[in-house]
Amino acid sequence: MARYIFITGGVVSSLGKGLASAALGALLQARGYSVRLRKLDPYLNVDPGTMSPFEHGEVFVTDDGAETDLDLGHYERFTGVAARKTDSVSSGRIYSTVLEKERRGDYLGKTIQVIPHVTNEIKDFIKIGDDEVDFMLCELGGTIGDIEGLPFFEAIRQFSQDKERGQCIFMHLTLLPYLNAAGELKTKPTQHSVKELRSIGIAPDILVCRSERPIPKKERDKLALFCNVRPDSVIAAEDMESIYDAPLRYHNEGLDTAVLAAFGITDAPAPKLGIWNDVSERVHNPEGSVKIAIVGKYIQLEDAYKSIKEALTHGGMFNRVKVQVEWVDAEVFDSSDVAERLTGFDGILVPGGFGERGTEGKIKAAQFAREHKVPYLGICLGMQMAVIEAARNLAGLTDAGSEEFDHESGNKRFTPVVYHLKEWVEGNRTVQRDVADDKGGTMRLGAYNATLKEGSQVAGIYGTTEISERHRHRYEVDIKYREQLEDCGLVFSGMSPDGRLPEIVEIPDHPWYIGVQFHPELKSKPFEPHPLFRDFVKAAVEQSRLV
Ligand code: GLN
Repeated sequence: MARYIFITGGVVSSLGKGLASAALGALLQARGYSVRLRKLDPYLNVDPGTMSPFEHGEVFVTDDGAETDLDLGHYERFTGVAARKTDSVSSGRIYSTVLEKERRGDYLGKTIQVIPHVTNEIKDFIKIGDDEVDFMLCELGGTIGDIEGLPFFEAIRQFSQDKERGQCIFMHLTLLPYLNAAGELKTKPTQHSVKELRSIGIAPDILVCRSERPIPKKERDKLALFCNVRPDSVIAAEDMESIYDAPLRYHNEGLDTAVLAAFGITDAPAPKLGIWNDVSERVHNPEGSVKIAIVGKYIQLEDAYKSIKEALTHGGMFNRVKVQVEWVDAEVFDSSDVAERLTGFDGILVPGGFGERGTEGKIKAAQFAREHKVPYLGICLGMQMAVIEAARNLAGLTDAGSEEFDHESGNKRFTPVVYHLKEWVEGNRTVQRDVADDKGGTMRLGAYNATLKEGSQVAGIYGTTEISERHRHRYEVDIKYREQLEDCGLVFSGMSPDGRLPEIVEIPDHPWYIGVQFHPELKSKPFEPHPLFRDFVKAAVEQSRLV
């Protein structure tokens, strides 16, 4: 039976709860324990799939096809444990399940209430798979005091009572603001947030305090006294240069020791931190740098491309270079010259996206990369744009486009080289969808296999011809243009196993030009960079030597 660590946040949002949880997961693994991380989100959306990337950042897709919060990306990057559908839940999902049950009559006419019906649903969720791991880490989204969060806090309180004494602990993250005028780190907001937590019956065992500067002993002792935690359970989390320092830094601050002690475990093996020493060493000692342009649409919020940014960093760590990312708004090419903006980059990456806005700019970026022999990585929409570019400018299909844009505008303007897929095979069943279906969860989502062409560039990069990658899209490149495009030099080097859906395109007569229909960034780890990002950054290094 797993031991549970509940991670909550107070004072302000964006404290890095996800990162702290992920780092703690990695430290427990380093001591030989198995872990799983979970996120409980209080918002009312059923999942983040329909939320704007501008507002919520990237949607992280799991192998089993769930559209989840980007914190699950942190969890995977630090622990290597593939997240599942059952590792992310929101109030919206919980309430919709409770209401479905009510409609079905499952509650036998009882009055449905937050306690016990909603809290029971949350507790059932938390329990899933608890016999599989040593530690289950559950992070609660939001901040203590948020009105939507209350049922979750109540549920974890009850949960710890339902379990044996000592099977659950609570870790609370807060902020110690520094007041210049007083020359002090202030502990009062933390005291208040712990008070709030205790007023609903949760007494934190561990306090993780974010601060801009070291926490003097006096403040630690004060926090311990006023918040009723042990002094060695007040963990300082100073700002760090790289997120990949987090496991080492938290270990040095004694987080894993304090957590184990809170469970009464004093004989745990010492952690094996070799991979994190290596990761940290690589992050801090690059031997050069490369400049990559990400030509996208959601560039105002970098979190919208979180995993891509991290995957590039991983590729850089492998090649021992710092990857300098510059965000380029695809729409600038409506009014400015591509060459002027994109000259001087060692690589161009066009990420995924939805809707027509900015797509002409992305097509121009793909054309620039192809014609000027700059390494190009097109991801999902970025692959579709590369195909449309080749169809227009190499194959003479001047009105090539995507059905997505025609659906959006309600006009038929394009030859649909990229079309809406309504039926596909998933495992041994056929999935059918229509344009008019709900927006949530109706895409080709999650892990699908692809077969790579023997001798192709991608087969060389992956070192195999059978791969599995995560998808999240509605539209597909139409196989009927394959011959025409291959005659012009754009090779379909990866296909779905049934040969119907193009998964990868590449241009052999180019130093590095690859488009993929899936999201390789979701599977990259600092200690195991994704092959495509590893190789793309390598190509960028070679390109940087040319200029
Ligand atoms: N909008 C495109 C589609 O649905 C691409 C999606 C993506 O880039 N994730 O097919």
